[in-house]
Amino acid sequence: MRIGVIGVQGNVTEHVDAVARAIRQAGRKGEAFPVRRREDLDRSDGLTIPGGESTTISKLLVKLGLFDEIVRRATEERMPILGTCAGCILLSKEAGAQAERTRTHLLGLMDMTVDRNAFGRQRESFEADLDVEGLDAPFHCVFIRAPAILRTWGACRPLARYADRIVLARQGNLIGAAFHPELSGDLRIHRWFLDLF
Ligand code: GLN
Repeated sequence: MRIGVIGVQGNVTEHVDAVARAIRQAGRKGEAFPVRRREDLDRSDGLTIPGGESTTISKLLVKLGLFDEIVRRATEERMPILGTCAGCILLSKEAGAQAERTRTHLLGLMDMTVDRNAFGRQRESFEADLDVEGLDAPFHCVFIRAPAILRTWGACRPLARYADRIVLARQGNLIGAAFHPELSGDLRIHRWFLDLF
């Protein structure tokens, strides 16, 4: 399996490392590499979209000619995508006034509304052990200026909550996490992602 990590901005190296470790841990053959050009995307069987700054990432995806092709592959070919933090924002259909004001281009693939920077300044970064549906022990979640998922509909299923807000959701081939599973050393969410192939 060849997993591309959108590498235009944000914490790309951590994602490449986490995906590569998850592939090894699962005993599968494959590689993880950054995606910056159309050729990188074309050789990817699936993608992760890291955290960073969602407006910047979205504008670069358009500028580099990757945006429409990601949407097409995800919808027509059901390409698996794991979006974390800013990546989760980009997967959503709605991201509120802030996203509109900054002209953030949402990929609009998951039936959910997110709220950017939902946990406010006092709690810019924090960690919490959360129960995740489908995992038998809590997952250590690292939040960094994290969004929250305010609402899901249609085929999008909430899988974890923090302070009454949804922080992990799945819709078929797509997984959105408000936190950073690549930073906790726990690869169980990456392993789910690999199970989509
Ligand atoms: N707050 C960022 C945004 O709105 C996301 C933060 C992150 O990805 N760590 O794009």
